[in-house]
Amino acid sequence: MVLVILEEQNGRIKKSAIEAAGFASKLAQLSGMKVCGLCLGRTINVNELTGLGLDQIVQIEHADYLDSSQWISIVAQAKEQLGSKFIVLSNNSLGKSISGGLSVHLKMGLISNVVNFKSQEGVLQFQKSVFSGKASAWYAFSDLNGIIALMPNGFGIHKFDEKPIDSKVLDLKIPEPKIKLLDRKLIQGKTPLTEAEIVVSAGRGLKDPSNWYMVEELADILHATTACSRPVADAGWRPHHEHVGQTGVAIRPNVYIALGISGAIQHLAGVNNSKKIFVINKDPEAPFFKAADFGVCGDLFEILPKLNEALRKSKMN
Ligand SMILES: Cc1cc2nc3c(=O)[nH]c(=O)nc-3n(C[C@H](O)[C@H](O)[C@H](O)COP(=O)(O)OP(=O)(O)OC[C@H]3O[C@@H](n4cnc5c(N)ncnc54)[C@H](O)[C@@H]3O)c2cc1C
Repeated sequence: MVLVILEEQNGRIKKSAIEAAGFASKLAQLSGMKVCGLCLGRTINVNELTGLGLDQIVQIEHADYLDSSQWISIVAQAKEQLGSKFIVLSNNSLGKSISGGLSVHLKMGLISNVVNFKSQEGVLQFQKSVFSGKASAWYAFSDLNGIIALMPNGFGIHKFDEKPIDSKVLDLKIPEPKIKLLDRKLIQGKTPLTEAEIVVSAGRGLKDPSNWYMVEELADILHATTACSRPVADAGWRPHHEHVGQTGVAIRPNVYIALGISGAIQHLAGVNNSKKIFVINKDPEAPFFKAADFGVCGDLFEILPKLNEALRKSKMN
């Protein structure tokens, strides 16, 4: 059995969980196992889950915040009761906070930031992104079981033939929390950076926070999420949760648009796994051009308004 953690948000399964379900189902297909999804939080409509390759689903309705010790306990109980050999989860903020603890608690090996897998001479091998995405390496578990934490947007979304999903009930006890959530402020209306398909990001080349309206305009037209370089967040031009890079959020969108960002190695560490990178910079020597798929060398104060206008017109036609 492969156990996959299905994280939900407002009763909808997260994109990172759909990706994890696809990985778990492909792994199960290859190793002749079944797949069980585990969802803690609001109940997900099972119809939403068909086509993800799942055989079973365990849902635990829980309205309150669950801390990492509670998650670890529940996943461990589910693993024991189902006799799962593999646990698959996304290496997003929940995955990062529980996968290490799970590995210690269950005495199972953990491979994190996995982007793919294969079977070679009967051995399951997992490809992992290393050195901030600059290289990749293949690993195998010493035992025939393990925990696989997927790099978000690494394996991609995979669809399967629809099949009935068996709702399973387990005897899972939720322990007392070790910490309490005191306050939570949700940023409305935007896809979180780690889930975004398109990210429009800007750096010090914007000169002043009052110029950010151009960045937001482009993001609005493309239904993108906005991001920024670290100095911009440090200067208070943009909130810190938008800062991407080695010390900020690591992202892997389909399209990353960098406006007036030099492309320092610490910035690239968080964005160079993007599928396509588009750069506007006035300095032909800017390091970002080496990492870019498309680049425009010029003044963004001239280019951006024209780009926004052209995109808006093309959307109206
Ligand atoms: C330990 C450590 C960790 C770090 N972590 C991070 C991190 O996580 N994320 C991060 O971003 N940085 C990080 N940094 C900082 C990083 O080294 C760079 O200093 C930073 O990324 C530069 O930000 P920037 O490109 O916005 O600014 P700048 O380096 O000032 O670059 C501005 C760019 O805008 C271009 N430009 C200027 N005007 C225009 C115009 N009119 N039109 C077009 N282009 C224009 C310039 O040619 C230039 O390339 C870290 C540094 C250290 C030491």
